[in-house]
Amino acid sequence: MRVIVARGSGFCFGVKRALEIVEKALGEEKGPFYTLGPLIHNPQVVDRLSRKGLKVIDNLKGIKEGTLIIRSHGLPTATIELAKKKGLKIIDTTCPYVKRAQEKAKELESKGYQLVIVGDRGHPEVKSMASEKSIVLQRPFQVEKMESYSRIGVVAQTTQSLENFKGIVKKLRSRTKELKGYATICNAVSRQQRSTRKLAREADLMLVVGGRDSANTKRLFQISERLTNAHHIEKASEIDFRWLGNKKIVGISAGASTPKWLIDEVARKVKGYGN
Ligand code: SF4
Repeated sequence: MRVIVARGSGFCFGVKRALEIVEKALGEEKGPFYTLGPLIHNPQVVDRLSRKGLKVIDNLKGIKEGTLIIRSHGLPTATIELAKKKGLKIIDTTCPYVKRAQEKAKELESKGYQLVIVGDRGHPEVKSMASEKSIVLQRPFQVEKMESYSRIGVVAQTTQSLENFKGIVKKLRSRTKELKGYATICNAVSRQQRSTRKLAREADLMLVVGGRDSANTKRLFQISERLTNAHHIEKASEIDFRWLGNKKIVGISAGASTPKWLIDEVARKVKGYGN
């Protein structure tokens, strides 16, 4: 049996960077430390960080001291301001690609463009870019319900597909005389999807490793299960050896929030099958 791990599986640049900053702070600085929502969508990593002192909270109510860690998705400016007013120290791990999208959104609004964000309305990253006046669109057909504006500026949530962004931009031309757009898309996720699709075509079983709440991992699982037998697991102990019988090639893929040690454990367990 061959075991192949899809290229680019696991932590993307932004998640790796955020974790390095956080681990350093937890080791060197005085707490308490908080994040609004889990730092990444991986329960094993979140557990590890909580043992080192990082607390996950839903809002800033009742928080009077300590350090607020801004996740790689970023936070709305108003929330950061509130934290500062409360006297909290801020450690910002916003991914530079997300930061660029936030800056472009701000720039367009300050120049008088009606801001359109291509993305998922409830996603923290979109919330971090949006203002009260901005419009969030997920699909091109939603442009039809939109009013016209003299100037429209458009940016994207970093994990959007370029195809969807282009589809929306094309339709927006009918809603304005002046359109300015920035394709603020990060390729890490689309690269992972491409390598997973390629591997799933040749593997007779795919194991997709990552948090149950990780949208990015769920997407890799959907891609895999369309092409071959596939299972979404969080850790090696979830592998059922009956899945492995008669398999020649087992592919492993993992979302952008899955640490390497979890991927390695899965690979080791599969390789150990039958030994
Ligand atoms: S997916 Fe891209 S934008 Fe998002 S955190 Fe990772 S590197 Fe940054």
